[in-house]
Amino acid sequence: MPNQSHFPTIGIVGGGQLARMMIEAASRLNLKTKVLCESASDSAALIASYFEVGDYKNLNDLEKFSSNVDVLTFDHEHVPLEILKKLEKSGIKIRPGLKALSCVQDKSVMREVLGKENLAIPKWKIIKEISEIETFASENSWPLVIKTTKGGYDGKGVWVVENLEDAKEILKNPLTNDAQWMVEEFVKFKRELAVHVARSPHGQSVVYPVVQSTQKNGVCDEVIAPAPGLSEENASKIQALALNIAQTLEVTGVFSVELFELENGEVLINELAMRPHNSGHWSIDGAVTSQFENHLRAILDLPLGSPKLNAHTTVMVNILGGKFEDMYKPFMHCMARDPELRIHLYGKQVKPGRKVGHVNISGKNVEDLLSRAHHAADYLTGTITE
Ligand code: ADP
Repeated sequence: MPNQSHFPTIGIVGGGQLARMMIEAASRLNLKTKVLCESASDSAALIASYFEVGDYKNLNDLEKFSSNVDVLTFDHEHVPLEILKKLEKSGIKIRPGLKALSCVQDKSVMREVLGKENLAIPKWKIIKEISEIETFASENSWPLVIKTTKGGYDGKGVWVVENLEDAKEILKNPLTNDAQWMVEEFVKFKRELAVHVARSPHGQSVVYPVVQSTQKNGVCDEVIAPAPGLSEENASKIQALALNIAQTLEVTGVFSVELFELENGEVLINELAMRPHNSGHWSIDGAVTSQFENHLRAILDLPLGSPKLNAHTTVMVNILGGKFEDMYKPFMHCMARDPELRIHLYGKQVKPGRKVGHVNISGKNVEDLLSRAHHAADYLTGTITE
């Protein structure tokens, strides 16, 4: 691929929708991108000016792919660390860095790192045998949450169990990718919050407003930016928390923190993600600079863009695959019904429950925005027809 200008080339490992939205941001900034994907029909491959099909677990594929990129970044966090170490040794810039990536590939490592920093997290324990769940249950009450330490996403690998019998059933599932079982207290949260930071190698950081996110069956359903009713004091505390973690873990790029807000206003950290996150998709239409643009700026050590809201409130609702294999007709209907909707589709093959797009809408009245965004998402999924 000829590169005759000073505009750098970003290599993105993984061809999902996050890569696709990075490409959309890159093309506006005249930044070059190439994608390593699993198939030519991957969401990002469909719009990439250059992609290679390869295996992200194969060193040769990654070496070949990285040979002419200025910086390597990721659509997901699953490239084995040993491979990343080798690539880094050969001089490839890996962003986010290895320190940051190593603590999000395994939920137990993440919990350990956060615990060492004295940050508030749910009580948890690695489980080798069922008796350890019994002991944990006697110290915390049922229900409990069982998780696999590796390989889970969108609530796959997370189970709420009401009693020992249920727990035994879950532990019968085979574990993959050297994962282990862990158990956690079931947090009776008031709601879930998320916050996003962009941090560049020279340490410039910007933090987005704290948002409220709601999951349905473990999958992000809706996000409200900013989180309604969150006091300025608590929002600032959460932003400071995220900025501090980003600094401690030397994150480069966009970094996301998912939290549980308790009734008393305190928060516990649930998850970290070292990349743009579903809970930040609102920023494409609702912030001066989207999480995707700031991710690119950050990994290239460019000055970061403003994370400020450009509307009073922006709501995002995910579109899941449902009735329509071809969404063009319902898509036209939604456009005609509500011209203020910002519909984003990922070009993915429609499968029931699969994330295939999202809708953003900005305005002032949260209830109204939620109802219009949900209407569009439900119509595109096919669960409503009017
Ligand atoms: P994933 O990595 O698959 O997104 P998470 O650990 O973030 O998995 O869990 C998915 C969802 O499950 C969370 O957003 C939350 O709604 C619920 N959840 C996870 N852990 C707990 C917990 N300890 N207590 C209560 N709910 C939880």
